[in-house]
Amino acid sequence: MHQTLFWIIVGIIIFDYLLDRLLDYLNYISMREEVPESLHGIYDEKKYKDSQNYEKVNLGFSMITSTFSFILILSVLFAGGFAVVDNYVNTLTDNIYFKSLLFFGILGLAMDLLSLPFQLYGTFVIEEKFGFNKTTPLTFITDKLKSWLISAILGGGILSFIIWAWNETGDWFWVIVMAGLSSFMIFMTMFYSRLIVPLFNKQTPLDDGELKTEIMSFAVKSGFKIDNIFVIDGSKRSTKANAYFSGLGPKKRIVLYDTLINDLTVEEVVAVLAHEVGHNKLHHVILGLIMSVIQSGLMIWLLSLAINRPELSLALGATEPSFYMGLVAFGLLFSPISTLIGILTNIVSRRHEYQADNFAAEYKLGKALISGLMKLSVANLSNLTPHPLYVFFNYSHPTLLQRKEKLENSGLLV
Ligand SMILES: [Zn+2]
Repeated sequence: MHQTLFWIIVGIIIFDYLLDRLLDYLNYISMREEVPESLHGIYDEKKYKDSQNYEKVNLGFSMITSTFSFILILSVLFAGGFAVVDNYVNTLTDNIYFKSLLFFGILGLAMDLLSLPFQLYGTFVIEEKFGFNKTTPLTFITDKLKSWLISAILGGGILSFIIWAWNETGDWFWVIVMAGLSSFMIFMTMFYSRLIVPLFNKQTPLDDGELKTEIMSFAVKSGFKIDNIFVIDGSKRSTKANAYFSGLGPKKRIVLYDTLINDLTVEEVVAVLAHEVGHNKLHHVILGLIMSVIQSGLMIWLLSLAINRPELSLALGATEPSFYMGLVAFGLLFSPISTLIGILTNIVSRRHEYQADNFAAEYKLGKALISGLMKLSVANLSNLTPHPLYVFFNYSHPTLLQRKEKLENSGLLV
């Protein structure tokens, strides 16, 4: 039985890899030498060439990194690598908590260190070459250390909680874990901007001036509190611009990148802000949170059904079944379900983007939103003509052309 499981896991990994290659290939053959008709007025010839080069370089890079991970995971599986780490932590301690934390700590650190050369190449060679990178080596190193620390604290805490529940709560396991994880997700949604973001970036209130005056007048019209609008120093790492809405209830905030404010006109920034206010007014964060709670509930329920089967651990070469080996096998076996959930989440997210665009358009900001998004796409050298199947699987936002067309057909443009 455990051998069958082993081969199913191998099959899933091969399928995932081939699917990704197919989607990348479809994007590759969608590229054009000449500026396509649909992009006239958005990309000039030079910028379009740059965007196609950027896309090509990234596709090649994605091919190399994913092939590396693919070979690595298969080698680890066939060599019984998980069992080697399992045996090693067994020689160090008998405590189930320490054992599990060490096991995942070693695997997580090893994976991150192995992918480090790729991370460095992506930031300091590719992004640098196309003029996007602002990350200094010092920022890169401190980011890395901070993210390890956060993963150790949060990941370690969640893992210990799940092991505790598994050992102590019997039939109530999945209910208790789900309650714990849901509370954690709500807490993180509320406090992410206050606890995590400040470790990496500075967030400041808007400076006085024309932009603040214009935003103030929009804030009054739409009933959004100006105190909840912040500017973040995104320029510390990249020239790419963005804006986002986060948080719940009184802890909600809209964050505008300083790069966005530099690149766009005042009216365009207000339009982008209006889109983010739309996410708030239309309750997209709460809906997203409810969806994640349901998804994790489903996964934990499936986990509770599967985790007591020794075959899971044995499939990875363990001699003695253990919770953490079972967890890894479960994660690999059920990854197709995660992929399906990811597709569903993207479908909902793309729908929310259209709704937030319409919200901005209802305040007569539709045209400014389109021109702002066009500027951002060109500045970021975005691929504006990806293959539809690639969009279906991977895009959380509709493409610029889809959003432009929806707005133009909405009857809301003035
Ligand atoms: Zn949005």
